[in-house]
Amino acid sequence: MIKNLFIAGTRPEIIKISPLVNELNAQVLLTGQHFNKEMLEDFLPLINPSNLSNLELKEFKDFNQSRYLISDLIKSKILELDIENVFVLGDTNTTLVGAIAAKSANKRLFFMESGMRTGDLKQVEEYNRLIVAHLADVNFCNHENNVNNLKKEGIADNKIYLTGSTIFSALNRLNVFELNEDENNYILLTLHRPENVDDEHRLKEIILGLQLLDYKIIFPIHPRTKDRINKINNLDTDHIEIIEPKNYDDFVKLMKSSKLIISDSGGLQEEAMVLRKPLLIPRKHTERPEMLDVFNILTYEISSLLENAKEIIANKSSLQKKVRESNYLYGKDEVIDNYLNLINNKLL
Ligand code: UDP
Repeated sequence: MIKNLFIAGTRPEIIKISPLVNELNAQVLLTGQHFNKEMLEDFLPLINPSNLSNLELKEFKDFNQSRYLISDLIKSKILELDIENVFVLGDTNTTLVGAIAAKSANKRLFFMESGMRTGDLKQVEEYNRLIVAHLADVNFCNHENNVNNLKKEGIADNKIYLTGSTIFSALNRLNVFELNEDENNYILLTLHRPENVDDEHRLKEIILGLQLLDYKIIFPIHPRTKDRINKINNLDTDHIEIIEPKNYDDFVKLMKSSKLIISDSGGLQEEAMVLRKPLLIPRKHTERPEMLDVFNILTYEISSLLENAKEIIANKSSLQKKVRESNYLYGKDEVIDNYLNLINNKLL
């Protein structure tokens, strides 16, 4: 019997659970939060397909009204699958409903990438992280700061383990260190956080501001962002090469050959670190403060985003040297062994 079930619904979850799912030969249950070719199917080759099922829940479109219905549907599937342990990761709506489903099905809940905090409860991601950490039987953390955050919130020491992040292994499996770096002559841009794309004024400000850089920008566009941009009348995007989202292999190649990355994605902060690419984050807060001014810079104000981007393009930023020379913060391939040792010898 396969005892371990990973619940995932989005592209970043699939990427980050994949090294561990494959090592544990675990089952994966997809929820339907992401559903199309570019956001889901292109990522399924990363995990062993024989252990995969997909609930394809359409209710995610109306999440605020349907979250308890969704978690009940996941709970029924968990009971049907006859597993013992449920793993969730990160901060998505799938993370939240997967965790609620696991506990209401009376299963042990293991939470990967736990303990990150921005302190901003207006962000749905923060709300999800907070609730799931307190529901979990076991919290796995990427960094000592995450361990401390959980302890400060009163979570018992025996529910917290420092493992590191699986992202190094996810990237290493693609042989990224052998990949050629082509011309470093473009900015890679990704944007999808509600704080940047749901507010028309903010989204316009970023897109139009980037025109002032007069530098090539490649923008694999998240469906949420595409939808928002299409709704803005007469928005000039001619200075940006907008492309469909890429599969992981191709996206990693785009990161590796870029001069600079501008992104509001969480997972990408860790990938940019592993690939040693400077990253500017158009956000007010980060859940990974240990990276700040070593591997990336928070640049919420457009003036600061442009100023820092210009310095990097001109090779005059002090960040570039730090990004090249600083030690990784979340471990390397030994992270998977940390997980396996804990799971096989201590927790199960
Ligand atoms: N990614 C990808 N193709 C793309 C854009 C992103 O494979 O076109 C990957 C990226 O490498 C990272 C993850 O998707 O691992 C980020 O996902 P997203 O921005 O949706 O979410 P977040 O990291 O903020 O949770």
